Amino acid sequence: MGFDLDSLVRENVRRLVPYSSARGEFAGTAQIFLDANENSLGSPIAEDYSRYPDPMQAAVKEKIAEINGVRPQDVFVGNGSDEAIDLLFRIFCRPQIDNVLICPPTYGMYEVAAGLNDVAVRRVNLTSEFELDPDAVQRGAGENTKLIFLCSPNNPTGNSIDRESVLGVLNTFQGIAVVDEAYIHFCDESSLIPEIKSYPNLVVLQTFSKAWGLAGLRVGLAFANEAVIELFNKVKPPYNVSQVAQKQILAALENRDQVDLGIANIVKERKTLSDRLSRIACVKQVYPSDANFLLVKVVDANDVYRFLLDEWIVVRNRSTIELCEGCLRVTVGTPHENKALIRALEKYEKSPIY
Ligand SMILES: *Cc1c(COP(=O)(O)O)cnc(C)c1O
Repeated sequence: MGFDLDSLVRENVRRLVPYSSARGEFAGTAQIFLDANENSLGSPIAEDYSRYPDPMQAAVKEKIAEINGVRPQDVFVGNGSDEAIDLLFRIFCRPQIDNVLICPPTYGMYEVAAGLNDVAVRRVNLTSEFELDPDAVQRGAGENTKLIFLCSPNNPTGNSIDRESVLGVLNTFQGIAVVDEAYIHFCDESSLIPEIKSYPNLVVLQTFSKAWGLAGLRVGLAFANEAVIELFNKVKPPYNVSQVAQKQILAALENRDQVDLGIANIVKERKTLSDRLSRIACVKQVYPSDANFLLVKVVDANDVYRFLLDEWIVVRNRSTIELCEGCLRVTVGTPHENKALIRALEKYEKSPIY
């Protein structure tokens, strides 16, 4: 049995007649727009946002496609990659019947989206080295497993998942394999985007929230075979990416040099922070990272976490997560912020409680 997209899609989605918006229906040029009940007088602020945005984000997609060596019709632009994750559930997973497979410890949104959509989650843990076990994944997936989520570099562990292992899953799984590359820009591994041409079951997620420094705009991307992207377009809310977001993303895409410089700085600072953390006595282990954060095992995670909060520094306490026992996840900040963190940890060691 080969990969058959049609049979994976939920019946109601296959039958769905999508909402046809005014801006979606009329694609030509005109001078007077009386078709969408907008306010022709304009906006009560300096910039005019009185018109609905392009529902298909054509300008943004064209630029993104060009940069990534794909076609615009292979790109979905969403309200954060979290929207793409949610849409994947809605397209493929029948509530209470289908299930998805995740490889913990990993990004929490996969499970939240599953819960929201009333879809069961199968867990195949990463190994103690945070590596993927493709055979265990294959054994864990069943007839009704529609999605497998792989995150590389993985959050919260920071490591990249071995490419051959990911391809192994893609080669054997007849559902949709989602590879979340939110942190890909911080590592030397190359993206799997070019593989969408060879694998009709591959969806690659990227985001403007991390390396691009635009988390507040809420823009994420999915790259896949055109047939899968058509399904995203069918089920998405018509105006899912605002005019402000589309405009600012286009501006950012003209400043790629600045983004690359920022990435290089963060990668350099990651090394400095990692070295300094390793010299702190209450730090048991700093895991290698391909992302813009470090997973750090400390002597008493809850205690360190609370102490840092008293010092006005907030990190992510991941110590209750299986395989991350005793761990805090620390985002690589500015040199100034990272120094403040190191100083606070040095102070912790001198404090009477420790
Ligand atoms: C931060 C992050 C995202 C980004 O989500 P957005 O909705 O695009 O902000 C996606 N996946 C992972 C693993 C992340 O850590």
